[in-house]
Amino acid sequence: MANMVTSRDVSQTVAQGALVRVEHVTRTIATRAQKTTILDDVTFAVPASSLFAINGPSGSGKSTLLNVLTGIDRPTSGRVIFDGTEIRGRGENQLARWRGEHVGIVFQFFQLVPTLTASEIVELALELGGNRRFAGGKRRARAIECLTLVGLADLAHRLPSQLSGGQQQRVAIARALANDPPAIVADEPTGNLDSHTATQVFDLLAELPRQGKTVIYVTHDPRLAGRASAGITLLDGHIVSQSGDAGAEVRGK
Ligand code: ADP
Ligand code: MG
Repeated sequence: MANMVTSRDVSQTVAQGALVRVEHVTRTIATRAQKTTILDDVTFAVPASSLFAINGPSGSGKSTLLNVLTGIDRPTSGRVIFDGTEIRGRGENQLARWRGEHVGIVFQFFQLVPTLTASEIVELALELGGNRRFAGGKRRARAIECLTLVGLADLAHRLPSQLSGGQQQRVAIARALANDPPAIVADEPTGNLDSHTATQVFDLLAELPRQGKTVIYVTHDPRLAGRASAGITLLDGHIVSQSGDAGAEVRGK
């Protein structure tokens, strides 16, 4: 029957519409004393253009998972397929270039170079990213364009120390968008902001899927977690629940 959908068809649909697929990813850290399993057979898919939340208590593996998604950490086993290509076997330089083209990262503590102005911070990301669309003389204009998107065009000449926390995180979002990557990954991006400012900053991230970007974020704020279009919850390194179209393999405790 033409309109009969089997569960296999459904999982293929998720996989086809996914920007990122995480397949049986495990990460263990071995010290002299013991082997610690930080991620334990994690499988899910992040739909393209979704607002995707990674939830879970402190220590459940959220940051490690984000680092695996961005190629900062390597899985001990399993694989991550990003936009149809496995993230593996690249050297650090290649990986940095890959990251510049594919994913913008927003950190909890902003991580802005203190001696550069907002505009220079975004321009530096463009230089490192190597996107030919924004080469040489086009960088300044692109930086202002990104700062305009986050409402900071007027403050482009300021140093981070001359900006509020919320403004600093908006600079970080402009930097993450600079090279026009398909995905933005944000680890507790509002964790260091008061709740009003947190909402304003999160609103900027939540807008991005409408422009085709995929936003993957970690938050402890239940209000912000609840705005996701899809997501997973981790506990002790494995997925205990999913929402939306996450295509996850869920395990009990
Ligand atoms: P979350 O972001 O959810 O708080 P993390 O991914 O930071 O969790 O950490 C998950 C667990 O793995 C924690 O118990 C943490 O202490 C441990 N862990 C993370 N990185 C390392 C590491 N490099 N070496 C040893 N243990 C680690
Ligand atoms: Mg963390």
